[in-house]
Amino acid sequence: SLTAGIVGLPNVGKSTLFNAITRAGAESANYPFCTIDPNVGIVEVPDERLIKLTEVVKPKKTVPTAFEFTDIAGIVKGANKGEGLGNQFLSHIRQVDAICQVVRCFEDENITHVSGKIDPIDDIETINLELILADLETVTRRYDRAEKLARQKEKEAVQEFNVMKKLKEGLEEEIPARAVPLTEEEMKIARQLHLLTAKPILYVANVSEDDITNSDDNEYVKQVRQFAEKDNAEVIVVSAKIEEEIAELDQDEKEMFLQELGIEQSGLDQLITASYELLGLATYFTAGEQEVRAWTFKKGMKAPQAAGIIHTDFERGFIRAETVSYEDLMEAGAMVQARENGKVRLEGKDYLVQDGDVIHFRFNV
Ligand code: GDP
Repeated sequence: SLTAGIVGLPNVGKSTLFNAITRAGAESANYPFCTIDPNVGIVEVPDERLIKLTEVVKPKKTVPTAFEFTDIAGIVKGANKGEGLGNQFLSHIRQVDAICQVVRCFEDENITHVSGKIDPIDDIETINLELILADLETVTRRYDRAEKLARQKEKEAVQEFNVMKKLKEGLEEEIPARAVPLTEEEMKIARQLHLLTAKPILYVANVSEDDITNSDDNEYVKQVRQFAEKDNAEVIVVSAKIEEEIAELDQDEKEMFLQELGIEQSGLDQLITASYELLGLATYFTAGEQEVRAWTFKKGMKAPQAAGIIHTDFERGFIRAETVSYEDLMEAGAMVQARENGKVRLEGKDYLVQDGDVIHFRFNV
């Protein structure tokens, strides 16, 4: 399954945030596909639709869907030089599918900052530069090889050389691979390199408890937003300290606490939702008398593949997917009514599953 990695310089609040994640997190026993690893935190994906579906279908049980965050500890600076721990840091990043970079936007005299002052942009650039340098090494190796082959004028080699040249020039100007303009075809070649700076990224601005309600006034947050805009990335504002406390509360207490703060969704829930999006994930539902359940699929999956997430038998013996969109079902108010309205479709093996589909799979055993 796909995972988002949490990275950041020392003392920015990574452990505090990861603590909140594991405390709020789901039991891995409920999600057998999830890894059991102390560096992995499993979270349930907040989804209003699941609550509404439960009200309509009135099942015995409701099960949300989940996904994983990975805590990427380790030193950052000099990582590209490939010394022990730094190397490990890069190889851990290599294994995740998206990056959540935590940036310190809180002041606290008692907590030292590695570079002596709070400077979120400098922090971001420090990490990004390590990733860029590591990628540059990867690309340069391929570039040299492609250059030799391209001299023989072989079409594929020439094409590869051109892609490596673009990437190399971009990285040399400290542009991350994800921001180097490439055509669809060139992108396919670039993907084979599994570059670190090609991974989707979002920034987590960690503000102090006092700043959470008016974080837009925080100068550091403003700087991060400005930077992220250039990077085409999203910014989520959290106060890791507060999230740690919220994670201890039950649902009712949590809602009350958030109301007091005047916040609609906790920072952690925003982070979960945004990371899910960043990974290209979406949700479909199954809804029966026994159980209403949310399932995670990768956008672009066809019906049999999506069925395979529930059980491999569902994919192998796939016949049809009886599908109604969440909106149509809600408008009808009940499955029977949705059927009468002609809103329940019989979809075949080429159907591209959509976020919010409520599906009943038919299959042969
Ligand atoms: P890491 O090195 O990035 O994992 O950082 P930690 O999570 O260990 O945090 C470093 C220090 O900053 C700890 O003393 C935390 O309690 C403190 N800290 C983390 N988040 C916040 C926050 O939102 N507000 C304040 N005031 N302190 C925080």
